[in-house]
Amino acid sequence: MKLFNQTLSRRTFLRQNSMAGLGVAMAGSSLAKPFEIRNISAEKPAILGGPSAWAEHKWPAWPIWDKENDEKLVLEVLRSGVWSRADMVTRFEKEWAEALGAKRSLAVVNGTNALVTTINQMDIKAGDEVLVPPYTFIATVSSILSNGAMPVFVDIDPETFQIDPAKIEAKITSRTKAIMPVHILGLPADMDRIMAIAKKHNLLVIEDACQAHLAEYDNKKVGTIGDAGCFSFQNSKNLPIGEGGAVVSNNDKFMDKCFSYTNFGNPYGTAVGAVGTGSVMQGTKLRFTEYQAAIGIAQLKRLDAQTTVRNDNANYLKSLIKDIPGITPYKLYDKVTRGAYHLFPFRYNKEGFKGLSREDFLTALRAEGIPCSSGYATLNTQPYLKDTFDSKNYRKSYPKEMLDINAYNERNKCPLNDKLCKEEAVWFTQNMLLGSKTDMQDIASAIEKINKNADKVKTLGKK
Ligand SMILES: *Cc1c(COP(=O)(O)O)cnc(C)c1O
Repeated sequence: MKLFNQTLSRRTFLRQNSMAGLGVAMAGSSLAKPFEIRNISAEKPAILGGPSAWAEHKWPAWPIWDKENDEKLVLEVLRSGVWSRADMVTRFEKEWAEALGAKRSLAVVNGTNALVTTINQMDIKAGDEVLVPPYTFIATVSSILSNGAMPVFVDIDPETFQIDPAKIEAKITSRTKAIMPVHILGLPADMDRIMAIAKKHNLLVIEDACQAHLAEYDNKKVGTIGDAGCFSFQNSKNLPIGEGGAVVSNNDKFMDKCFSYTNFGNPYGTAVGAVGTGSVMQGTKLRFTEYQAAIGIAQLKRLDAQTTVRNDNANYLKSLIKDIPGITPYKLYDKVTRGAYHLFPFRYNKEGFKGLSREDFLTALRAEGIPCSSGYATLNTQPYLKDTFDSKNYRKSYPKEMLDINAYNERNKCPLNDKLCKEEAVWFTQNMLLGSKTDMQDIASAIEKINKNADKVKTLGKK
């Protein structure tokens, strides 16, 4: 019973630690000592029967919810009976816009439909092309396709994991309407170069900032640099509401139209239930709810402090692993002033690990108790593209040669992205970066010990 209480209190301590935005190590606490005196990297990897690097730790839970401080507003909403869009949503939109330094924000059902709405209200439709990186979540591309437009893939810079600005211009045609940089993994794309290209070719810029809450490029929040930015509040995201999303922009006319589009085409500001206004445009319904907003307001209070902890821990972890042979952590562009670190990425090169495959490396790392993943599959080669091109709408909107999937695949080859997805990428999730400095040391030590014993781990994989 005593042991149970101890575990519980340590876990509570860890949680409070991250909630208060403190990235402090457990130094000084007697609980931390067993981890600090162990030289983990000198031990045998767990997969070979050694002790696991992480045996006694618990990763910070996600999402974080504070009964004491977070539930009041949610209960207020529930008890009021006003559950559809009203004052709480407006308040959340105002707070989100303020947090970003944007003029306006519109909350919608999810990040996917923030993108769908944005593309739709920029009048990007059948026959138009949008430039996107292949290293992203499916929603980036599906939001283009669901508007009937054509995604054109631009290969990435594997050092930064972002769309490579140097490869954008070669993909611009007379049909190109927009560039859609994705601040993937919560690391900012190279916005100066992207904006310069957009200006030169008169293209719109839609930032997919669904993973990049409060990330900054040149001291400006990402999502506020282009013509519009889109965010997701899905449960895994750095501001979790379960589901939710937002469009942000400084363009009032565009934002008014986005409001109308997501509210049956009713004029901007029409209250829920006011059916007498009539629809001024063709719209749909993608509204946020009052209780989602109440959760969002609570989560927003801790986002800045959490972002600071993630930055500190990411910098620290990066410094600890950068010299391990075969490990190349992400690079940030010079003008990046803050990361969001929805994920912590590095590239794995099996040559530094005696030829140990990435999959076997990941298995060995998981055996240490360290969750990790190989990330995205290649988005530019999957069957949804052919399926879309075979649809009635696409066949009516595009010349036949544009829908030839083999020719499309040929035009949209992204060899560097292929290599990143298939051989190199490794991710840790953002909640791990809310742990202590000791936690970061243990991640690094576990990687080191696998590196030192790579030949033996490799032999194991062969059996
Ligand atoms: C999560 C995500 C989306 C979609 O957001 P949802 O809220 O899940 O619909 C879009 N783009 C990227 C890069 C994302 O990570």
